[in-house]
Amino acid sequence: MKFINLTRRIEIGANSYYLEANGRGFVLDCGMHPKFDGEEALPNMKALGARRLEAVIISHSHQDHIGTLPVLMRRQPGARVFMTEPTSEIGTVLLHNSVNVMTRQREALGTTLYPFFTHREIDHVAGRWQSCALRQPYSLSGERTSTGDSETITFEFFDAGHVLGSAGILIRAEDRTVFYTGDVNFEGQTIAPAAVFPEEKIDILLMECTRGDTPVPATWSRTSEEQRFMQAIENAFVRGGCALVPVFALGKTQEVLAMLYKLRREKILDFPVYIGGLSTKISEIYDRRAQVGRRQLPRLQLLDELRPFVLNSETIGQAQTRPGRVYALSSGMMTPKTLSNTFAQRIVEQPRQSVFFVGYADPESPAGVLRNALPDEQVSLDPDQAPQRVRCHIEQFQFSAHASRESLIAFAERLAPKKILLVHGDPLAVEWMRARLTLDLPSSEIIVPTPGMEIEL
Ligand SMILES: [Zn+2]
Ligand SMILES: [Zn+2]
Repeated sequence: MKFINLTRRIEIGANSYYLEANGRGFVLDCGMHPKFDGEEALPNMKALGARRLEAVIISHSHQDHIGTLPVLMRRQPGARVFMTEPTSEIGTVLLHNSVNVMTRQREALGTTLYPFFTHREIDHVAGRWQSCALRQPYSLSGERTSTGDSETITFEFFDAGHVLGSAGILIRAEDRTVFYTGDVNFEGQTIAPAAVFPEEKIDILLMECTRGDTPVPATWSRTSEEQRFMQAIENAFVRGGCALVPVFALGKTQEVLAMLYKLRREKILDFPVYIGGLSTKISEIYDRRAQVGRRQLPRLQLLDELRPFVLNSETIGQAQTRPGRVYALSSGMMTPKTLSNTFAQRIVEQPRQSVFFVGYADPESPAGVLRNALPDEQVSLDPDQAPQRVRCHIEQFQFSAHASRESLIAFAERLAPKKILLVHGDPLAVEWMRARLTLDLPSSEIIVPTPGMEIEL
């Protein structure tokens, strides 16, 4: 078996991984880099050389996993594409949104490569995606199959507990098993239940490392964190301000809405909520699929129950920063020109306003910079605008949709695979995981796959 890490660096960038078994090649995920533009936002597709792909298998519909799939499909017209049904539904919405973002960036950045694809092209390629059920082996030609024979390559999706539709991918080939975790959470969130991963013997584990550089505090529990969050919102209102919660449109928005629903249900706090247009579209999919498959609070219809007000890029500039309200706006990393970034610029210098961080943000992203800023420090949230002095109240909460490093280590130890490949982490996170697993699993080979290099598994 052969493997190539198609990310450009050791990072959480444009995720994509090439695998080859029985001389047949396929790719896991095809993301877009959250920080870079143009060619640099694509996975390193050049490392594929002249290889022809038979399939592309997508773990979930976050940008960093599905964001450049139409480009790969254009370059590999013979490849079949597989994902779960919710990933396909949400992925279509997110890719269409991405065309709009890239079209705006084309002007601003002068990147003639943008948009990488058009609305029409998405409609065309999405028609070729095949939706697959969880826990059902499929062959690379898309047929449901049994797992018995060693000539056939099969893949099977397992619920990864990260966002709606997210899946780990089990590949059986050459009498061996490869398991790709994708982005995973082993603990239940407010809506997403914990991952259910395979119990069978795994030979090669391809594992995400997002939280590899942060330990979970001994006192942390989701319930106590929810209480702290609730108290922080109340305090924000007492100060006479509002609270901005930067969130990813997919996953974190719906988890935050569900938490706010619980506050209302328990009659603890009731207040108006604002979300963005993209978050609304994805919440509609969560609501439509609420009773399908595994989910917590299956009767909760987020949009009916919370009746959030909807903001968009036209209305965000004039939207009032009203006290006693929560603005759960994307993007989660507060990328310049997004709703959360524009809104943050309007409140960051006001001591009565609050910004609450609830999930992962790259330390160099505007959200990462603001989260770590000291009071009165100058920060630049958008390179096109003047720096601002941080006077608002800032607090951080741990509601990550990713597995803690402790639970990743425990999972790897339980499987004790022959080889573990560490991906989807910043260098420090990957290095911590590598060092720890090398100590704990002396008979496993721990590999940090060098980007662009073919390795024999
Ligand atoms: Zn993800
Ligand atoms: Zn990811």
